[in-house]
Amino acid sequence: MPESYYDIIILGGGPAGLTAGLYAARARLHVLLIEAGLLGGQMTVTEVIENYPGFPEGITGDQLSRWMEEQARRFGLEIVSQEVTEVKVDRGLKFVRAGGSTYECKAVIVCTGAEYQKLGVPGEAEFTGKGVSYCATCDAAFFRDSRIAVIGGGDSALTEALFLTKFVKELTIIHRRDALRATKIYQERAFASPKIKFLWSSTVHEIKGDQVVRSVLVKNLKTSEITEHLFEGVFMFVGLTPRTQFLKGMVEVDPGGYIITNMAGETSVPGIFAAGDCTKKLLRQVATAVGEGATAAFSAEKYLEESE
Ligand code: NAP
Repeated sequence: MPESYYDIIILGGGPAGLTAGLYAARARLHVLLIEAGLLGGQMTVTEVIENYPGFPEGITGDQLSRWMEEQARRFGLEIVSQEVTEVKVDRGLKFVRAGGSTYECKAVIVCTGAEYQKLGVPGEAEFTGKGVSYCATCDAAFFRDSRIAVIGGGDSALTEALFLTKFVKELTIIHRRDALRATKIYQERAFASPKIKFLWSSTVHEIKGDQVVRSVLVKNLKTSEITEHLFEGVFMFVGLTPRTQFLKGMVEVDPGGYIITNMAGETSVPGIFAAGDCTKKLLRQVATAVGEGATAAFSAEKYLEESE
């Protein structure tokens, strides 16, 4: 039997979830937000966010997360720290399983975001936490004055690499093509950094070490030559995987697992809405996530009114 009843339950407390929470709570609805990790999501591991409007000097991800939480709580948003494992629908009602509890509601907004993808090369799992990392903000301090590799050529790889230059002696970006995917401004900054080198058209073949990472075997994709490079750390930024597995095929997703929504944030199931990085979308930014969170909350409110 469900322990508690809510109008709306929001799954995930990143910028999309916290904004959906703010809007829904401010609309005087009874709203619960469930977050397994840190409130703020990926913002919490972002040193500085400089493209979120209203902060001309940029703002730390941690500060923006805390302010978003404070603002939503001010309007009555309830927040619990639990991991959502299942969502079920029965005659229009939704049942959310999280941390051993079952919550009942009329509408669910899925804002569970995405996590960094694994590369799947030998040594990666073995040395995770022993030189292999997926979070520069969390682990940079362990690599003071070291030589490290950053894998990937997107916005994550470049922004994290630029942050890591404050700590490391030298950093090599290993990218599988000979052109970067990242936004031009990050490319310009990376090319201008005396600490950043590039290994183009190359992939990681194997990560080697003893107790910790010592070197990386790098394969040149044009010549197939494999060379060994001495690195004390390897930071992986090769894309994202949406956290949607717990929905177990309940809503329509694309081949990558991203939830398909319409402009109102509606999914293929009435009363289940989605917003932010877990959805199929063009641009993954804090600025887009908050807009989608607001839209999904508005749509959920309309859904509740119409289903009364
Ligand atoms: P991404 O844009 O998907 O880039 C992933 C990078 O990893 C690409 O360069 C890709 O190479 C490479 N890659 C993928 N699979 C690989 C493999 N198996 N082996 C080697 N390399 C591989 O992911 P992201 O950088 O994490 O960014 C995700 C989203 O968040 C994007 O929409 C991004 O704009 C956004 N974001 C924005 C900011 C910001 O604006 N400040 C910061 C971080 C992230 P190819 O280029 O060859 O595909």
